[in-house]
Amino acid sequence: MIYKKFQDIELSALGFGTMRLPVLDGDNSKIDEEKTFEMFDYAMKNGVNYYDTAWGYHDEMSEIVVGKALKRYPRDSFYVSTKFPGYDLSNMPKAEEIFEKQLEKLQMDYFDFYLIHNVNEMNVDAYLDPKFGILDYFVKQKELGRIKHLGFSAHGVIPTMEKFFKVYGPHMEFCQIQLNYVDYFYQDAKGKIDLINKYNIPVWVMEPLRGGKLANVSEVYEKRLTALRGKPVTEMAFRFLQSIPEVTMTLSGMSDMEQMKANIETYKTDEPLNEAEMKEVCAVAKDMIAEGTVPCTACRYCTSYCTKELDIPRLIGLYNDQMFLKLNFMTLMGLAAIDKAKHPDACVACKKCEQVCPQNIKISEVMKKFADMIPTLKME
Ligand code: SF4
Ligand code: SF4
Repeated sequence: MIYKKFQDIELSALGFGTMRLPVLDGDNSKIDEEKTFEMFDYAMKNGVNYYDTAWGYHDEMSEIVVGKALKRYPRDSFYVSTKFPGYDLSNMPKAEEIFEKQLEKLQMDYFDFYLIHNVNEMNVDAYLDPKFGILDYFVKQKELGRIKHLGFSAHGVIPTMEKFFKVYGPHMEFCQIQLNYVDYFYQDAKGKIDLINKYNIPVWVMEPLRGGKLANVSEVYEKRLTALRGKPVTEMAFRFLQSIPEVTMTLSGMSDMEQMKANIETYKTDEPLNEAEMKEVCAVAKDMIAEGTVPCTACRYCTSYCTKELDIPRLIGLYNDQMFLKLNFMTLMGLAAIDKAKHPDACVACKKCEQVCPQNIKISEVMKKFADMIPTLKME
């Protein structure tokens, strides 16, 4: 395992993200503890020392299971991070209540890393509003030793991050952004790194594979990427991240042992891309973006806001597959497995979902496009 220096500690360059743990009966809230514990054991044995969870992951169950998994190890043998769920504005007055509950859920008396979660256009003003005292509260917890390092994650655009930095900047020790070879351009992660650099803090990476999408690219991109080194596309996505010097931590939300083994194998070595490889990976990214798919990461922040109870990420997943793979029968089969009343044409364009989407996806427009496209798809 490669390690990166952060202040006076050494962090494994790969961290275990616990947003997509294995589940039972397809139920996101029922984490398969046996399989999860096996993954923790493998990660610990192979040098991963950073474990990332959050209040909202797995319908608020991730912190509990992560706590149980880590309880089996000495407290000083790992670093754990969790986050304040300010993506939901109703949590703003509850910083203390939530923080105390998180310590309880994780069965810990301090967190190594704590993040202000998902700073974006919708919540930045609330994060800055002195009435909620979010910054003061967490700075106080740090003084008390209950947080060792304070940082934030951001899905907002650069001006929003700048606004946040102006107030929180002096207290922030790291910043987590969505970074992969597609979002380097699509979400201007490149520009965000430049901004983070101004504050002299390291970059934490989330969604290195864009919710798994970059592990499963279409054949034409797979050929271009594997032609570079004869290595799998997933490895190339991580090698891209290893080429960015500002990146200290890469969090991968691993769902099974196979992914974990492959990722850990990749992180045994630091093999950044050379100039020609970097050029080609960036060209692939630009071509992918041009294809018109929607950058949904299946975070599911939107689903509880949908007035029609649509499974938005599932529908967008089908839409993207259709746009990317153009396999009508696959799309039609996928739709057949969904209740007709929950198809894209049920969307009433209320846009409630769009207000919480960290990717700023115009979900109602996607639903309309998909609904219009479906009658034209033929089994072939
Ligand atoms: S715009 Fe459509 S998908 Fe979004 S919340 Fe409204 S009904 Fe649901
Ligand atoms: S549409 Fe947006 S909020 Fe909903 S799952 Fe996708 S990325 Fe998340």
